[in-house]
Amino acid sequence: MATKSIKDINLSGKRVLVRCDFNVPLKEGAVSDDSRIVAALPTIQHLISQEAKVILCSHLGRPKGEKNAIFSLSPVAENLAVKLGKPVTFIEDCIGAEVESEIAKMGDGDVSLLENVRFYAGETDNHPEFAAALAKLADAYVNDAFGTAHRAHASTAGVAKYLSPCVCGFLIEKELAYLGEKTAHPERPFTVILGGAKVSDKIKVIDTLLDKADTIIIGGAMAYTFALAEGRQVGESLSEPDFIATAKSALEKAAKKGVKFLLPVDNLAVKDLDFGAGSVGASQFFEGQIEDGWEGVDIGPKSIELFKEEVAGAKTVLWNGPMGIFEIDACNKGTFAVAETIANSDGISIIGGGDSVKAIKMSGYSDKVTFMSTGGGASLEFLEGKELPGVSALDQN
Ligand code: AMP
Repeated sequence: MATKSIKDINLSGKRVLVRCDFNVPLKEGAVSDDSRIVAALPTIQHLISQEAKVILCSHLGRPKGEKNAIFSLSPVAENLAVKLGKPVTFIEDCIGAEVESEIAKMGDGDVSLLENVRFYAGETDNHPEFAAALAKLADAYVNDAFGTAHRAHASTAGVAKYLSPCVCGFLIEKELAYLGEKTAHPERPFTVILGGAKVSDKIKVIDTLLDKADTIIIGGAMAYTFALAEGRQVGESLSEPDFIATAKSALEKAAKKGVKFLLPVDNLAVKDLDFGAGSVGASQFFEGQIEDGWEGVDIGPKSIELFKEEVAGAKTVLWNGPMGIFEIDACNKGTFAVAETIANSDGISIIGGGDSVKAIKMSGYSDKVTFMSTGGGASLEFLEGKELPGVSALDQN
């Protein structure tokens, strides 16, 4: 089954409620990073060209069910109007009689943006009354907010009960194609690189991808729990002794399925890490084991070469999670080397959201990857094989 998309239907003349991810950072009342607005443009422009009445909605921040001007979407309306080259009517509420009368004034091809849906507790509670009040504004529903698709909220899922058709926008369609299709039926060899802080956060992803990948590469602090599982010492490195058994079963599953499982062969370790100050004190590379008193903060040069060789032969590469504490300059070499290698690979490169996207942008290689997910938690849950409420609420082909 495939989720129906806006390209499968014609919404001409219809009032279309579009859930976007306009949860953008603001600085002094203006949008300071507009990448999420830019990402929403293809869907909005498509609906304008179909002469639909485009009613946009989103959350911004965590106003916790109360109206709070700090979290107003009004700066987004201004930014979006410039990008579209046409007016975007900002409506100062998202449900109720006044909103309905504003929408009644809309002509075909017009665009309105509703105020923050999280100004009502009914949004995150997925209250049927709030969902119905939102639905009353429109004839059809488009969800294009992948970043919140893992949440069953009123505007991401509940509203779909009251509207038809319900389809995904281009952004979600692309996420489903790359994180879903291209990893379920990948061009092989399919290499997965996973990193980040905790095995416990990523074990379900590892388990699911062990059924799909030819090679799994592990970096970041996660690798230290795997090192413990192999009986190696990790000094003061971040690890999860409670998950050694889990790591062992993943290693066993890989061996049983013939999946190549690569761990770092060397690490950069430091003595006095101060995250706030961005300083690390003395540093040294260790091969195999890390001595007591030292904390692993990045993969070493031999691991970088090993991982590079593996990625070079891959036809599909999926990356989620940094190789080290990439926020600190002294510990970012491994993460940036992986970013560069993936960007320069000839195969399909998929960046699975969160910190990896941040890292690839910081490294300056984001233009060269095939696809960067816009989700953090949603990408992870989707890669785990979970159903996303914001997607399953939509019509299926
Ligand atoms: P995650 O959200 O699980 O992808 O984890 C990302 C975080 O993992 C980043 O903030 C990194 O600084 C952190 N991280 C990566 N490698 C290490 C490490 N060796 N020690 C401590 N934290 C790490």
